[in-house]
Amino acid sequence: MAMNVSPVPHLDDEVNEIRLATAEIINEEILPVEEKLWGYSFDGSRASRESIAEANDLRRQIRDKVKQRNLWAPHLPPEFGGMGLSFLQHAYMNEVLAYSPGAASLFGVVAPNSGNQKILVKYGSPDQHRKWLIPLTEGRMQSGFSMTEPHNAGSDPRSIQTRAELDGDEWVINGHKWFTSNGHAADFFIVMCRTSDPDDPGGVNDRMTQIIVPKDTPGVNVIRGVPVWGKASSHCEIKYENVRVPKENQLGRTGSGHQAAQDRLGAGRIYHCMNSVGSMWRTFDLMVERITTRVVHGGEKLEEKQFMQGFIADSYMDIQASRLMVVDCANKMESGADSRTDISAIKIFVPAAYHRVVDRAIQVFGAKGVSGDLPLAGFYTGARTLRIADGPDEVHKILIAKNILRRYHAGETWDFGN
Ligand SMILES: Cc1cc2nc3c(=O)[nH]c(=O)nc-3n(C[C@H](O)[C@H](O)[C@H](O)COP(=O)(O)OP(=O)(O)OC[C@H]3O[C@@H](n4cnc5c(N)ncnc54)[C@H](O)[C@@H]3O)c2cc1C
Repeated sequence: MAMNVSPVPHLDDEVNEIRLATAEIINEEILPVEEKLWGYSFDGSRASRESIAEANDLRRQIRDKVKQRNLWAPHLPPEFGGMGLSFLQHAYMNEVLAYSPGAASLFGVVAPNSGNQKILVKYGSPDQHRKWLIPLTEGRMQSGFSMTEPHNAGSDPRSIQTRAELDGDEWVINGHKWFTSNGHAADFFIVMCRTSDPDDPGGVNDRMTQIIVPKDTPGVNVIRGVPVWGKASSHCEIKYENVRVPKENQLGRTGSGHQAAQDRLGAGRIYHCMNSVGSMWRTFDLMVERITTRVVHGGEKLEEKQFMQGFIADSYMDIQASRLMVVDCANKMESGADSRTDISAIKIFVPAAYHRVVDRAIQVFGAKGVSGDLPLAGFYTGARTLRIADGPDEVHKILIAKNILRRYHAGETWDFGN
């Protein structure tokens, strides 16, 4: 089934053209071969060499078409081979490209590389651009972002214990990280390190620095890919043991690591939420199609049943509410208004709505819903994971409440129109 995308009246021509061109690639190039692109990885048996070679070949052809249509790397400026989209344009493109799972990688936006690329664009020196950013954007290198630690609360970055100490012209790094995504393939990691004495009177947020660490540096020990949802993964546990890198591998000034992480996460949350909207859109199409075709007891189609009609209505509301909240938040962010409360709100609401929408679709499909023949099982675990990654729900609820209470304590009330 093709994705139904037509111009949105209140959007400008440029955004509409991007959405339509993206949908054309999704509908004509990706959906017809979706099973061949990724399907082999759901097959319990070992994938054959031929099927892997065919998938690689198909992916290369699609990437070439994406580049010909100027839809490559929406998150990067043109000088680094990207589309140079504004924040809002990129968000609108994401809801379309996330219709097909994995399609983002065919448009040159793959986490964690995309987040690292943005950090390198903003904080990297010309030399770091040449050495790390350009090979990364050209696909000659892979990367990981190494922040979370097994023995400290990842939801509180101030608890990070990995230390980097200056010894002459070198940083010496010691620490234990895990869930460093893409760890097996990565050529380098951006590692979040504590770079000053914990008793230092400076601000808590000024004590972190992000440092580029090539994976082949002595002392970088990738222990394992941590299994996730019962499957092998590339989210790696890594020990950094007396790892020495040149001082010039630090990103930005010493102590700017916390700000760089905030920059990465703020925009990233909107992109993730728009991706979730795209995945919900696909889920909805699949579910409604099934409801209109499946015949059950008594020879009636599922669409005759009120339980099923309820699923359609509830999912419609979940998707529309999510989409409007994300678009509103992205508009605020683009206009430079304080959008922190809204970012936290979508970070909680959208993954939960996504989870509900996929849960209903799985129920409608029965056994097929949990099978590898549909993208639903992957969406389901993805939605659940999103409630933890990039800040768990509880932390965002605390932030929302704090921001609101601050206003009321200052004698104001909340203006929901702005
Ligand atoms: C698939 C996946 C990929 C990931 N990729 C990366 C990556 O590439 N790089 C990286 O560095 N990290 C990555 N992470 C880690 C992720 O960012 C962390 O899991 C997340 O920040 C939460 O940290 P934590 O797991 O240590 O949980 P904790 O901080 O221990 O929190 C656990 C739970 O405690 C509760 N809680 C925490 N704080 C509060 C509070 N203040 N009040 C009330 N309740 C609270 C919440 O219920 C929370 O879910 C990834 C995680 C997953 C699952």
